Amino acid sequence: MSRYWSPVVASLKPYVPGEQPRAPGLVKLNTNENPFPPSPRAIEAIRQAADAALRLYPDPSAEPLRAALAEELGVQPAQVFVGNGSDEVLAITFQALLRHDAPLLFPDVTYSFYPSFCALYGVPFEEVPVDAGWHLRVDDYHPSRRSGGAVIFANPNAPTGLLLPLGEVERLLGQDADRVVVVDEAYIDFGGESAVSLVDRYPNLLVVQTLSKSRSLAGLRVGFAVGDVGLIEALERVKNSFNSYPLDRLSIAGAVAAVEDRAYFERTRAAVIEGRVALTDALEGLGFEVVPSAANFVFARHPDHDSGEVAAALRRRNVLVRHFRAPRVERFLRITVGTEAQHLALLEALREVLAP
Ligand SMILES: *Cc1c(COP(=O)(O)O)cnc(C)c1O
Repeated sequence: MSRYWSPVVASLKPYVPGEQPRAPGLVKLNTNENPFPPSPRAIEAIRQAADAALRLYPDPSAEPLRAALAEELGVQPAQVFVGNGSDEVLAITFQALLRHDAPLLFPDVTYSFYPSFCALYGVPFEEVPVDAGWHLRVDDYHPSRRSGGAVIFANPNAPTGLLLPLGEVERLLGQDADRVVVVDEAYIDFGGESAVSLVDRYPNLLVVQTLSKSRSLAGLRVGFAVGDVGLIEALERVKNSFNSYPLDRLSIAGAVAAVEDRAYFERTRAAVIEGRVALTDALEGLGFEVVPSAANFVFARHPDHDSGEVAAALRRRNVLVRHFRAPRVERFLRITVGTEAQHLALLEALREVLAP
């Protein structure tokens, strides 16, 4: 607290990210990073970009990356917007497209950054409860039930991992053509069908994705949005009023190479999906209830143990998982899919922690 703060700063509720420990040797399953390294081609491209031209400003619109993403996704480059991680893309989206008189609608169980952005940009919002099985009910968003200025949700959802089928996403889009719908697909590559296929038919749809999870590039900070050119233009207008060179040369080069290395992407995401199946089986074997996940993490609880205490006991055994102290989700742990060795360490620690 300081008397020099502007009034809005005092009212903010900043997002609290998962712990990024400095100590080596921890089994880190708390922030949904990919257990595999990035594509070697991405690393090489970053090396070459570092040698070539750091003296010069980067391309202000990251055209080579927009072109590579457009090619990969089957859209036009003018339908793609890029930023420093999808968190920045989302922040710009909140300012550009989600601030209206009617409240922004999002599920009560969701990515906890959304309320932080609402506080920062003065966006009124209303939380719509997911059902007892954590499902988003599309009918609850119908204009006859709730007047919303816009809708945002994560698919698969965070922190549950539950997927809303594409047909349901489309039903939501069709409810009100005057309302923007943002689908945050940070985890879509791990088992869902992307709504990118719908952007040409729904000018009110913006799909946001990231290279942090399925491309193993959380440290590089690259995210993007895909949608109608009118929506993308709104994001560009905000960006160019704020920071016209958001992506640096290393990020552009590394991201282009990662997007183009489709074989590596397919191999590593298949391995993560296999790991999720194995982790789910093992946790169920220890008596956990596990929500069906389409992401690179699982959401699980043990009926006989307090999840906060289990997380703390795991931390003492050098295993990090995520526990959210928030209504509805506090009985659960969110555990990132790791390598086989990480799973073995987790399961060994859990056997000790759960032992009577
Ligand atoms: C991880 C995550 C993001 C942000 O990813 P970036 O690293 O900023 O690209 C956005 N939305 C959800 C739901 C996430 O889990």
